This record gives sequence, C-alpha cells and structure tokens, in this order.
Amino acid sequence: MECDSCEVNNNCELQTVANDLGISDHRYNSPKQHKGIPRDTSHDYMRMNLDNCINCGRCVRACDEIQGSFVLTMSGRGFESRITTDNDMTFGDSSCVSCGACAHTCPTDAISDVFQSKSAAIDKKLEQLVLIVELVVT
Ligand code: SF4
Ligand code: SF4
Repeated sequence: MECDSCEVNNNCELQTVANDLGISDHRYNSPKQHKGIPRDTSHDYMRMNLDNCINCGRCVRACDEIQGSFVLTMSGRGFESRITTDNDMTFGDSSCVSCGACAHTCPTDAISDVFQSKSAAIDKKLEQLVLIVELVVT
C-alpha cells in the first residue's frame, strides 16, 4: 500500500484496521479498481482524494445529519459508486460551507483540508498546545 506518502499516515482508521489484521497489500488490482479519480483541489479549504475513498458513506451522513448542508451524495452503483458534491459540481463550486465535519469523520484522507489537520504531525502539535495551555492556566 502507499501509506508512507499519504497525508494521514499513522493517523488513519483504515491503516490501523489493516495493520491489526496483518494486511500489507491489496489484492484487487485487476480487472477493475477505483484508482484514477483526479484529486479535487478546487475548494479554498477542503480537499477531496477519492482514490482513497472506501465508500463508507460517513461523510454523507456528517454533512446531512450534523451540518444539515446536504452537499455530499453517494452516486452511481457498484464499481461506479462514488461521492459527489451537489449535482456533480467541483467541491469549490458546491454549496459546502467548509465546516469540516466530513473530513473529521472520513476514516482515510479521501476528504481532508488544506491545513492537513488530519495528519499525525498536526495531532502532535495540538497535543503540545493543549499541554502548554494547561500549564499556563494551572
Ligand atoms: S465541509 Fe462542506 S461538504 Fe463537508 S460536511 Fe461541511 S458543508 Fe458538508
Ligand atoms: S467518509 Fe471518506 S472514505 Fe467514507 S465515503 Fe466519505 S470520502 Fe469516502
């Protein structure tokens, strides 16, 4: 797998499950797979990389049920199913309000943001920041 070069390496739910199960490679390279969907970098804050989407649908529920924006949909059937924004618009042209709920719940880097806030490095920085704040206020 190509985890080393991924933004959420060492901070990925899918990677954790694969490691727990001893899976180091995927077996479904032919005849059909989901690779090849171009990254959507049209949004000012959000990023979409559907190459790494596992079609779990969590982002759709987060956008609908937490944010109430109904931007994301699972469209198509079978191998053609994939996440789309509004009526297949680019993320940047969609009605997304940049709340980040979809990125927060996405178990891979399929939806993230320009700040790479799902990366292990940012998580560590946040932990340090919380420690500093706790030291200051106590
Ligand atoms: S960031 Fe946009 S697409 Fe994601 S949950 Fe919020 S409104 Fe929906
Ligand atoms: S939450 Fe992430 S992996 Fe799951 S369907 Fe949405 S984009 Fe794909």
